Amino acid sequence: MNGQETLTILTYCEDLKLAMELVHVANGLKANVVAAVIGPEPGSEANDLATCGANKVLAYQDSSMEYFEVHQLSVLLDAMASKVGADAILIGATQDGNSLVGRLAARLDAGAVTDSIELSIVSNNLHAKRLIYGGAGIANFIMSGSMSVISIQPGAKNSALINSALVNSTMNNSALVNPAPVNCALVDTKQDSTPIIENFIHELEPSPVKLLELKASQANAVSLKDAEVVVAIGRGLKDKEDLKLIEELAIALGGKVGCSRPIAADMEWLPVEQWVGLSGVKIKPRLYLAIGISGQVQHIAGIRDAELVIAINNDADAPIFKCADYGIVGDLYKIVPALLARIKEGA
Ligand SMILES: Cc1cc2nc3c(=O)[nH]c(=O)nc-3n(C[C@H](O)[C@H](O)[C@H](O)COP(=O)(O)OP(=O)(O)OC[C@H]3O[C@@H](n4cnc5c(N)ncnc54)[C@H](O)[C@@H]3O)c2cc1C
Repeated sequence: MNGQETLTILTYCEDLKLAMELVHVANGLKANVVAAVIGPEPGSEANDLATCGANKVLAYQDSSMEYFEVHQLSVLLDAMASKVGADAILIGATQDGNSLVGRLAARLDAGAVTDSIELSIVSNNLHAKRLIYGGAGIANFIMSGSMSVISIQPGAKNSALINSALVNSTMNNSALVNPAPVNCALVDTKQDSTPIIENFIHELEPSPVKLLELKASQANAVSLKDAEVVVAIGRGLKDKEDLKLIEELAIALGGKVGCSRPIAADMEWLPVEQWVGLSGVKIKPRLYLAIGISGQVQHIAGIRDAELVIAINNDADAPIFKCADYGIVGDLYKIVPALLARIKEGA
C-alpha cells in the first residue's frame, strides 16, 4: 500500500450476491470502493452495486459476449485498476475468480491471496487470512506491496482500520468484525456521496484463449449456500440406492442433501455442487447432520460456520465427534429410519 489515507479498492465478481458482499467488505475497511461490472447487459447489476454502498461503479458492456473468460477479465480489471488508481483488487472466490487472481497478480506484479476468509488493515497494511494445511490452520498474510489481489470467500469478515494514524476521529479505535450481510439492502450506504455509474470503454483484443464449449451445471444440482438444514452423507453409505433414505430425512427436516468428497468425486452419486469441504462448498447452516462421515479436516473446513453439528457414525473414535455438538454412535441404517419414524410421529 502506498501510505495514502484512504485506500481505493476495486471489487469484482460475476456473481451479484458475492459482488455485493465484496462491496460490504471493502466498505468495512473504510475504503473508496469502486465496483466493476462486466457483461453483455451490466445495467441492473451496476444499479444494485451502486445502491449497495460502492462509491463508484465502472460498467463494461459488450452485448456480443455471452461469457467473459478470465484472460479478458484480467485485461479489463487491469485497465480499470489503473484508471481508478486502485491499491487493491478484491475478487469473489469463485472458480473463475481464483484463477483471475493469479492472472491479475502476474499482470500487475502484485501480491496475491486466494480464498481469504477475513480482511483487515493493520499499520497501513492489508492483512488477509486464509485456511491452510487442509483447513487445520489459519495463515495471516501481510500485503506489504503497492498492489494486492485477493479473492474473498462468501461470508468473509472484515475489520475496520486500526492504525491510529488513519483512524477517523469519530471512529472507535477497536476492530470491527462484521459478517457480510445476506441482504445488502440492509447495509448503510454512504450518506454523503451519491455513487456514480460510469461506462468503462476499452478496446478488448481477441482473447488468446479459445472457448470450445459452455456447459450448464447438472440440472438436478442443489445449492447448499443458503440452506438452513443440511443432511450430509459420506462413505458410510453402502449403496447409491440408499440415498433415498438420506433424501427422505432431509425432506422431513426441511433441509437439503450434502455429501463428503468421495460421494461426489469418486462415486459420482451426487453432483459436485453438493460436496462440502475445503475443495467443495463452505456452508453455514443452522443444523448440519453428518451421517457416515469420518470428519477429516478437509471436510470440517466446509462447516466451520455451521451453528449446530450432529454426527451419526458407527465408530466412536471418528474425528467428526470432536467437532460435533451432539453425536450418535451407531449404524446409520438403524438410526436414520428410527429418526425418520420419530419425526413422522411428531409431525
Ligand atoms: C486436498 C484435499 C482436499 C479435500 N477436500 C475435501 C472436501 O472438500 N470435502 C471432503 O469431504 N473431503 C475432502 N477431501 C477428502 C478427505 O480427506 C476425506 O478423504 C473425505 O472427507 C472422507 O470422506 P468420508 O468421511 O465420507 O469417508 P471415510 O473417511 O471413509 O469415512 C466414512 C465414515 O463412515 C462411517 N461408517 C461406515 N459405515 C457406517 C454405518 N453403517 N453407519 C454409520 N457410520 C458408518 C465410518 O466409521 C467412517 O467414519 C480432501 C482431500 C484432500 C487431500
